Amino acid sequence: NTETDDFVIDDILIENIFRPRSEFSHKGTYGKATIAGGSYGKIGAAVLSTRSALKTGAGLTFTLAPQCGYEILQTSCPEAMFIEGGEKYIDNFDIEKDSVAGIGPGLGTDPRTKKAFLSFLKNYSKPLILDADALNIISENKGNLKLIPERSIITPHPKEFERLFGTSENSFARLELTRNKAKAFQIYIVLKDHHTQVVTPEGKIFYNITGNSGLAKGGSGDILTGIITSLAAQQYSEEHAAVLGIWLHGKAADLAAGKHSKESMLPTDVINELGNVFRLFE
Ligand code: AMP
Ligand code: MG
Repeated sequence: NTETDDFVIDDILIENIFRPRSEFSHKGTYGKATIAGGSYGKIGAAVLSTRSALKTGAGLTFTLAPQCGYEILQTSCPEAMFIEGGEKYIDNFDIEKDSVAGIGPGLGTDPRTKKAFLSFLKNYSKPLILDADALNIISENKGNLKLIPERSIITPHPKEFERLFGTSENSFARLELTRNKAKAFQIYIVLKDHHTQVVTPEGKIFYNITGNSGLAKGGSGDILTGIITSLAAQQYSEEHAAVLGIWLHGKAADLAAGKHSKESMLPTDVINELGNVFRLFE
């Protein structure tokens, strides 16, 4: 492929993608986001992802989680609505219709969750955002890859990527493999790393340069899922949701590191900096 298919995500690209809110708008203007995730002991992942979706501006945000997360979620995310998907583990993916769904943070791999998730995928055709255990469940059987709806965005970290698509000799080979898989399955692959890359079904590659090693902590990826799901709910195209999403995530992390240090910054601090990142556009 030619160099023209590769882009660095710079400020100019981001200013062109970002759409300021219209004063003449209401919550219906900004779409519905559903975060499906959480399991006994991992409700925090659903909290982080839901809070990120809220703080990225979706009009209405739903969390599909097991009953054991009900009070936790209603308390930590009062702006979001709770949909019960099971007792301790999700066993029913009753995604709010007309919403864009991000599935996976803290989902776990209980056999009931696996069964319910795969049968949900078989009957669902709108683009999804898939992360974490949603990807781990898919990777258990290579045949599952074709169940991913076209134009979905998947956000694997390097280990999850390997589970899905196998190992590569080096990072160049891995990028070429990513390009082939994005084309073959007509999906957007967000390859999470120090410099995260978005690879589109057309074979375009976007490199991100925001973010820092303070993100190398549990929970950082859950935030990204919430951000991208929220942007997709607001009708950003999949390409724009992925590209703007990873840039926002990294930029918020850079502000959080400036205030708290890379060591002490927590994913929660990153969420709380999202507002300061949006203010850069004012
Ligand atoms: P996860 O492993 O799913 O929690 O995702 C980790 C998130 O943090 C991804 O968005 C990574 O790109 C980001 N991240 C992790 N380590 C680093 C690092 N050393 N530099 C920049 N970003 C990182
Ligand atoms: Mg993760």
